[in-house]
Amino acid sequence: MGIQIALAGNPNCGKTTLFNALTGSSQHVGNWPGVTVEKKEGRLRGHADVTVQDLPGVYSLSPYTLEEVVARDYLVGEKPDAILNIVDASNLERNLYLTTQLLELGVPVVVALNMMDVVRKQGGVIDVAGLSRALGCPVVEISALRGEHCVQAAEEAIRAAQAGQAAKPQRFDDALEDTLGQIEALVSPCCPPAQARWYAVKYFERDSRAKLDGLTDAVQAKIEAVIVSAEDAADDDAESLVTNARYVRAAVLARAAGRPAGQHRLTVSDRIDRIVTSRVFGFPIFAAIMFLVYYISISTVGTMMTDWVNDVLFGELIPPAVEGFLVSVGCADWLQSLVLDGVIGGVGAVLGFLPQMMVLFLLLAFLEDCGYMVRIAFLMDRLFRRFGLSGKSFIPMLIGMGCGVPGIMATRTIENERDRRMTAITTTFIPCGAKLPIIALIAGALFDGAWWVSPSAYFVGVAAIICTGIILKKTALFAGDPAPFVMELPPYHLPTVKSLLIHMWERAAAFVKKAGTVIFLACAAIWFLQSFNFRLEMVNAGESMLAAIGGVLAPVFAPLGWGDWRAAVAALTGLVAKENVVGTFGVLFGFAEVAEDGAEFWGTMAQVFTAASAYSYLIFNLLCAPCFAAIGAVRRELGGKWTLIAVGYQCLFAYAVALCIYQYGTFAVTRAFTPGLAAALVVTAAFVWLLVRPAKRPERKLQRAAAAE
Ligand code: GDP
Ligand code: MG
Repeated sequence: MGIQIALAGNPNCGKTTLFNALTGSSQHVGNWPGVTVEKKEGRLRGHADVTVQDLPGVYSLSPYTLEEVVARDYLVGEKPDAILNIVDASNLERNLYLTTQLLELGVPVVVALNMMDVVRKQGGVIDVAGLSRALGCPVVEISALRGEHCVQAAEEAIRAAQAGQAAKPQRFDDALEDTLGQIEALVSPCCPPAQARWYAVKYFERDSRAKLDGLTDAVQAKIEAVIVSAEDAADDDAESLVTNARYVRAAVLARAAGRPAGQHRLTVSDRIDRIVTSRVFGFPIFAAIMFLVYYISISTVGTMMTDWVNDVLFGELIPPAVEGFLVSVGCADWLQSLVLDGVIGGVGAVLGFLPQMMVLFLLLAFLEDCGYMVRIAFLMDRLFRRFGLSGKSFIPMLIGMGCGVPGIMATRTIENERDRRMTAITTTFIPCGAKLPIIALIAGALFDGAWWVSPSAYFVGVAAIICTGIILKKTALFAGDPAPFVMELPPYHLPTVKSLLIHMWERAAAFVKKAGTVIFLACAAIWFLQSFNFRLEMVNAGESMLAAIGGVLAPVFAPLGWGDWRAAVAALTGLVAKENVVGTFGVLFGFAEVAEDGAEFWGTMAQVFTAASAYSYLIFNLLCAPCFAAIGAVRRELGGKWTLIAVGYQCLFAYAVALCIYQYGTFAVTRAFTPGLAAALVVTAAFVWLLVRPAKRPERKLQRAAAAE
């Protein structure tokens, strides 16, 4: 058996950063709590026999949150050979609270003081020797971000593991020590000696998740008697007694490290936060930033590069060269068509948007890493609370801007089951990276790059979440008050170029891989279906199998303004992967054939859409059911029944919004009253009613009960 080292620490102390540095893997590093819910395992670089575990961040080992349960089940149940406790040195006292608990587990502990670069920048020093003496375990100063001394910290942990010397628990005040000593004597026959202290404390706290099998009822009664007498003597409940004692120890330890207790001064971060999270400027600043992010990536910098890729690379360079080659080797017509129309047409159309995606990913990585995004969750908490969701629900949505799947998985951190469901249902309303090509295609091809189109996609997503929140919270299924959202705001910092590039590259690589696999296959399938009829004769697209299938589907979407069978089919292929919507357009509108004159592809597409139907198409694709991967993630998190509800709700919502957009947009131009418009008016009225009707409160029952008395 090799050596197991567990990384434990508060949320945001830099565990994942250190984990990545030690194992060379690239787990998601987020500047907000709760990103790591599952524990992740990796091999220590250069040590084949040492595994490192990245545990979820916790402030304490109490059993109140899912993160705490995951972390402590591992630490107590599977007993790593050593714990490497990451401590945010810029926030020492707060972090040492957890350390006092880790020292009780009967496992060797090494403390890594992280963020030393921040401490140094603030002009601080830490008395490492003094802290190490007070803790009774090795202490190493590191900076996970800059890669300083990370290896030394790991080696120190290996040494501790090999020595096998369990850490020494901190001593509390004499009265408490006396009580704990009595309980320890009672529990110690039933547990390993090294864990006696841990179980004594847990039994004292009446923590029902800590159970020792061998403990008889008689012994438990004795323990309860000890607890009650201690509580009476101190006139406080047992759990608070321990909590207070830990705070006292954490303060003593921080003083041993040369930090005056409770020190506080206004840092640059605090000053930035006064503006960025203020009631007045917070939301306008957020809106402006998100506007800029989408505007820059989709409408300016990104477009210039995308145009080059589309016009030059997939227009003038690749197709003629490939065509020339295929003709010269005497390739069959159908194969030429498959390669040119199917593969280059479809995959090329999707890959053309890679530059825009890379710019978007880079900007998002920056906002996330520097610490701005976590402020948004904080800001959103105020807004979300009004309609019964907490800011914690916004974190999955922030993650979902890259990809919905990890976003949906991040809903696990939400304790309240109803809020968790609602968040999982709404997370994919935020445009993920894969929806970006759709936005860019429609903004560029059908709106001539109008400045408002791409940012509006993001804001429609946020509005959809808020409206859904209001509507669903009024139903009995979701009613209830939000859980409090407590969170420490980490200081801002300038991300390293390397970490930004890694972030961007990871996502871009995943996108390219998808283009080469799923999208490639889907485009080939679309090409096949649009090139042959049911008797497998090669025909014009208009007479193909696909046209027949699309023809059945199209009338469903006619009220939304895009009854063209190609648009309907493209929306359907988005279920496989959202990029496919663009890939399918590429195949069906002959991206490769006409790309020599790039304008023509756009031109053919534009004939099928009006401004109103193009925007309705965009919004439908943003809000409707996500791709199968994301639906699968919802199923894993919520189960089959709730997945049906989620997908049904999303499609219905998307349909209703797209209907209204198209019908009102058309009316604004034509001034004609149509049945479609009437339907839109009915939908709008129903929607408004759902938004403003009085809420179904769970208290109703209570009120009725009270009235009956
Ligand atoms: P976790 O929640 O404990 O896994 O923390 P992460 O590894 O996700 O890091 C949280 C944030 O702190 C990220 O923005 C990191 O870039 C940042 N961070 C981590 N280590 C350091 C460090 O040594 N110095 C500084 N300045 N920032 C760090
Ligand atoms: Mg983490």
